[in-house]
Amino acid sequence: MELKKITKLIEKELDGKRYEHVRSVEFTAAAMAMKFGADVESALIAGILHDCAKNIPNEKKLSICEKNNLPVSDTERANPDLLHGKVGAYLARTEYEVEDEDILNAITYHTTGRPGMSLLEKIVFVADYIEPLRKPLPNIDKIREAAFEDIDLAVYLELKNVLTFLDTLEKEVDDVTKETFEYYRSIVE
Ligand code: FE
Ligand code: FE
Repeated sequence: MELKKITKLIEKELDGKRYEHVRSVEFTAAAMAMKFGADVESALIAGILHDCAKNIPNEKKLSICEKNNLPVSDTERANPDLLHGKVGAYLARTEYEVEDEDILNAITYHTTGRPGMSLLEKIVFVADYIEPLRKPLPNIDKIREAAFEDIDLAVYLELKNVLTFLDTLEKEVDDVTKETFEYYRSIVE
């Protein structure tokens, strides 16, 4: 599907604030793709679609998973908002005609990250956190600088923040987040 058409559909799908957020992530991700030599079009699409399931009620997120055999962990069942990455990737494939596995993975893992992320996955993970419309976060200047210098460092600093300031963001934390943190810590150290 053309980016223009995706944009129109997403504007209808999300509330106003969320729509502004995904557009902001879209352009931040594109800028990072330019810097690091990733595919800019993929960054735009992954950026605008990363939260496409965010405004779906939790009940419905769970039922989408059940109907389509998407695995739901105990952590996810207790906090179904964690599922908006996985469900978002499912909708990206079925409703927005995205076939590129790298884009789908970037959407799936933007909530928790995962060890060994692809460049595009890292870009979306970091762009989601540093986009300019975010309310002020601790250490954000340092993370924004790293986002255009050393992307593994940016991933590490973001995860450190997420695990340290649990309540500063709607960012959900589960065991995968901690594993990802340990993985990127070993890379940057
Ligand atoms: Fe999200
Ligand atoms: Fe987001």
